[in-house]
Amino acid sequence: RAKERGKNNFQFYTADMNASAIERMKLEYGLHRALAKNELEVWYQPKVALDSTRIVGAEALLRWRHPEMGMISPGQFIPIAEESSLITSIGEWVLDTTCADIRSWRDAGLLDGRIAANISGLQLKYSNIVETVSRILKKYDLDSSVLELEITENVAMDEDSGMVEVLHRLQTLGIYLSIDDFGTGYSSLSYLKRLPVRGLKIDQSFIKNLHQDRDDAAITQAIISIARSLGLDLVAEGVELEEQRQFLVEKGCLCGQGFLFSRAVPREEFAELLKKQGVLQLVELGEPA
Ligand code: C2E
Ligand code: MG
Ligand code: MG
Ligand code: MG
Repeated sequence: RAKERGKNNFQFYTADMNASAIERMKLEYGLHRALAKNELEVWYQPKVALDSTRIVGAEALLRWRHPEMGMISPGQFIPIAEESSLITSIGEWVLDTTCADIRSWRDAGLLDGRIAANISGLQLKYSNIVETVSRILKKYDLDSSVLELEITENVAMDEDSGMVEVLHRLQTLGIYLSIDDFGTGYSSLSYLKRLPVRGLKIDQSFIKNLHQDRDDAAITQAIISIARSLGLDLVAEGVELEEQRQFLVEKGCLCGQGFLFSRAVPREEFAELLKKQGVLQLVELGEPA
């Protein structure tokens, strides 16, 4: 009813809404200004070799420092950005900021490896992502091998959307592509084989109870063997416990990220981590012993 009355009846409309709808509207309103007001930040979570816990990479994770609401998780505001056209500009900002950081860490002799950023499905579909990525790499004089893009499973599996074509163009550019939250979607393995991806990230929902739930342990083992058969790299997400780390190493998953090692940290803190361990190199973890 409120909507039919048109834009001038804003007041009436808000009176009708529940608290969560109001919260959501506040977020959407704030998000429009977040970029201009420098409220967004990119933080980095280390990816580590699970046997030595040495840092072998990192994932760029978006943070929003809201002036009243404090730190807001991307899980809360990315969906809102996706419903408006904001995801394109925010996504581009994340790529630009990540590449600027990669440039400065390379200049400081701290980084010789690859950093991953998350890409939204809509950003892949509706923005000219290939052109954007090449322009940003050029801007910071970076080779495409320094950047990894994580795409969630359901987005990558969307056969009708021309997604495969876009992924192929990114791969041709030299970008390392990986599938995020693997195991939660509905991958067909034959389709997975045709995608130009280099790695899979096991979703954290399987890792969470791995050490005490037989099904989760079995699923994780199955994903490890799929990755091995298809020659894909593997990262376990959400490793929080030593038992989980041990299980993964034993079963041959050699790379992981999670609170056991580090949360996502601001760029300065990530640089400190790199300084402590020496230059981050592009490590090929290879086959387990
Ligand atoms: P994701 O890409 O699967 O990222 C992993 C999430 O798990 C991150 O949450 C990370 O902080 C969290 N995490 C890492 N280790 C652990 C752990 O040991 N335990 C637990 N409980 N959680 C852990 P975050 O940063 O809140 O991001 C949530 C999601 O938001 C991401 O899931 C990703 O899908 C999306 N996202 C984040 N940054 C961006 C971005 O720049 N662009 C887009 N399109 N999406 C983003
Ligand atoms: Mg991710
Ligand atoms: Mg994930
Ligand atoms: Mg996730």
